[in-house]
Amino acid sequence: MINIPQIWISDLTHTKQGISAATFPLGASYVYSYANKFLGKEIDFKLFKFPEDLNDSLKINFPTVMSFSNYSWNFELSYKFAHVCKQINPNLITIFGGPNFPTEKDEKISFLSNREAIDFYIELEGETGFHSLVKELINNNFDLHKIKENNLLIDNICYLDADKNLIEGPQKRVLNINDIPSPYLDGNLDHFFNLPLIPMLETTRGCPFACSFCADGLASKNRVTRYEHQRTLDELTYIAKRVNNIEELIITDLNFGMYKQDVETAKLIASTQKTYNFPTLIGASPGKNQPKRILDVSRIIKGWNMGAAIQSTDPEVLKAIKRSNLSTEAYRTLMEESALDGTKTESAVILAMPGDTKEKHFKSIKFCLDNKVSTMRMFQAMLLVGTHMAEKKTRETYELKTKFRTIPGTLGTYDIAGNKYPVAEIEEIIVGNKTLTEDDYIECRKFNLFVVTFYNNSIFEEIFPLLEDQKISAYDLIYFIYKNTNLYTQKINEILKKFVKETKEDLYDSWEDANKYVLTPEILAKYIGGDMGTNELLNGRAEFIQNFEDTCTLVMNSVKELFKEKGLFNKTVSDYLKELTMYLNCKKGNVIKNTEETVFHKFNYNFSVIDLKDIKTKNLRSKKLKESVNLKFYHDDNQKKFIENQLRVYSKHAIGLGKLFQQTDMRKVYRKVEVVL
Ligand code: SF4
Repeated sequence: MINIPQIWISDLTHTKQGISAATFPLGASYVYSYANKFLGKEIDFKLFKFPEDLNDSLKINFPTVMSFSNYSWNFELSYKFAHVCKQINPNLITIFGGPNFPTEKDEKISFLSNREAIDFYIELEGETGFHSLVKELINNNFDLHKIKENNLLIDNICYLDADKNLIEGPQKRVLNINDIPSPYLDGNLDHFFNLPLIPMLETTRGCPFACSFCADGLASKNRVTRYEHQRTLDELTYIAKRVNNIEELIITDLNFGMYKQDVETAKLIASTQKTYNFPTLIGASPGKNQPKRILDVSRIIKGWNMGAAIQSTDPEVLKAIKRSNLSTEAYRTLMEESALDGTKTESAVILAMPGDTKEKHFKSIKFCLDNKVSTMRMFQAMLLVGTHMAEKKTRETYELKTKFRTIPGTLGTYDIAGNKYPVAEIEEIIVGNKTLTEDDYIECRKFNLFVVTFYNNSIFEEIFPLLEDQKISAYDLIYFIYKNTNLYTQKINEILKKFVKETKEDLYDSWEDANKYVLTPEILAKYIGGDMGTNELLNGRAEFIQNFEDTCTLVMNSVKELFKEKGLFNKTVSDYLKELTMYLNCKKGNVIKNTEETVFHKFNYNFSVIDLKDIKTKNLRSKKLKESVNLKFYHDDNQKKFIENQLRVYSKHAIGLGKLFQQTDMRKVYRKVEVVL
């Protein structure tokens, strides 16, 4: 057999604290399939996801070219491979590509000068740039210097020439994305079905919006293109037939549900769900427009939390980040209509963006809760390389105060070509600005933790109707809990203290400081053991959920106090709250750990049949039984399987559990309840 050059394409994930990016390497597989279609006879392409597999292959031979995807969560790991391999073989050609790359010319020069082990960088879509570059490499007999000396202009490729000048080829997008062969249907992703990875599906590419904090908001990515309907159907069926103990499908579209064709896609998904019972969970970013259509789509498919990301409701903040939201009226209508048929909804708010204040942040959250969104996602503002928000001008105008920290789940010591190397991914987050002090920032984060804990996952939904009956909103309750620290048990105080410590302390003034600190052996061990470097919000929530008894007691004591304030606390209310507390503990306590445990308890209210939405202070007496009823709480076989599958993907590591509670529709894991005679 004739030896042909090998080109390896890697979309790496960290693996030392569980699989950090537990998804199929979809973007890299498109690049692989496109290049293979045109150049497969001349080049032997290989695709990698795990650093361990890449290292195993390096023990056998070195390729001619190594290419890597560059995201904030894998860049340092990929760069370490490139750097080490280039030191061993200086003729190795290295290519990077992905959104984690500056947009300004001087920043690109500085990026490439500081990262000398990167020979070429692919901007915009990977398929075009990679294909054009490999063609040029073949034409120039893989002579890197020849290309750089001749300053060749290659589509979507930039690099530094011998004199450190930036050479940038013309920017081009794939005209018809259907020209990219399906990596699923070609069988190129088959072996990933045996791994605990979530499949991803792209039905459109591009985003018409221009948010300044997002790399997809650049003008070069504004045109939206779509795959043919039949291809999407074939891919869905292909995936559904092959998934192995996986519940979730991620749709990578940037505005799912916004386009009229998405209704047809939703029908395809619904029919796949009916035939194959997959996917039971769907992850997809909803569109920022066409709320009615998004609602229709969410009604067709099961398992998708339809959302309206708002980031902030404040006009000044929205202007500063070049973001336009749904109108207040449209948002309200969307939420009201969703509530009518129980469709789950989701909204995201980002803290500390340019122009943000504590009051504006609380107000944004109140807006979503008052409009009955089902789930809140609370984000910190990250300054991502390649976004307008990270530019010098924005930093100066809004006096952004930033800190550096390790991205949770993205560090470890890796074997690369015979040696071990510690690697960590570092990100820059905003912790204050001209109008938000760092103390305000901490208070906002505490409130964020309370919102995701006490509001999300329908965790205390049973209590809200009783409160609403007295004109106490969910926001009022959570704000009351936030303010009344005297009600916290010792465990709650411990969780909160740890949360504030992690929020404050694991931050550094520069990338170098953060990197140096985390890579010392004893600190690295603490991170890997889960004692440091977790996502404090997800971790804090996971701890609250795992200490459900204390969490539930805090909520119920707060409800009691609120009733007392209104002069409505009496024996009937008190008895009911006691029973409800026990019911919630039996149904929702320790749901992930104890799937085999069956719990029995006697109640004076038949919680297995009461419509809790209909509970009001004035009808409590009439709902009380004359004789108590014995209730049984248990997980059925489907739930046990579901929990097992989710733990397989997210792991029991502190970071994994935090993600599991965030990604999982917890209603699926709360115990079933039935009357025992
Ligand atoms: S945040 Fe969403 S809507 Fe805004 S530019 Fe990015 S992908 Fe588009």
